[in-house]
Amino acid sequence: MKHELPALPYALDALEPKMSKKTLEFHYGKHAQTYVNNLNNLIAGTKFENASLEDIIKGADGPIFNNGSQAWNHTFFFDGLTPKQKPEPTGELLEAIEMSFGSFGSMKEQFSKAAASLFGSGWVWLVMDGKELDIVPTSNAGNPIRDNRKPILCLDVWEHAYYLDYQNRRPDFITNFWELVDWAKIEKRYKESL
Ligand code: MN
Repeated sequence: MKHELPALPYALDALEPKMSKKTLEFHYGKHAQTYVNNLNNLIAGTKFENASLEDIIKGADGPIFNNGSQAWNHTFFFDGLTPKQKPEPTGELLEAIEMSFGSFGSMKEQFSKAAASLFGSGWVWLVMDGKELDIVPTSNAGNPIRDNRKPILCLDVWEHAYYLDYQNRRPDFITNFWELVDWAKIEKRYKESL
């Protein structure tokens, strides 16, 4: 089975100026595509040749895990952004956020803090814990699915995600990320994972 990088759900320049066309050309077009290409080369002739990305995340190690997980993570990340944002979550997801963190603002604050303080390369995730939610940082290609947790939102804090637009200013990238999150999509993920 050959893995493919799905098309973005928006144009390359749709997230300007918060995430530039140039960033997406490199981040989506080069980095994410390279993980998919590497994965296809690595799995040929192995027991993961016909495995889903989820099974690779749960069962593989080393380069196959790294490239498989990064392929999944990037698709999930890009698919959770939108140029036409509903600014705040509502309904069951908002209730879960308030139950778990006190308020939407407090969740954003805790998530942003985890993203700003993650050392080196990695991801920050909003994951489901039954109906409740938790914030989980992972290093490098890490993915909470490996620990049987259900992610509904992620932020890529590898330097390649923001360096062209923000250089060393990761906190500014995190601030602007909140204005791109597709809350309608995150609500859908929450409902589907209950
Ligand atoms: Mn990335």
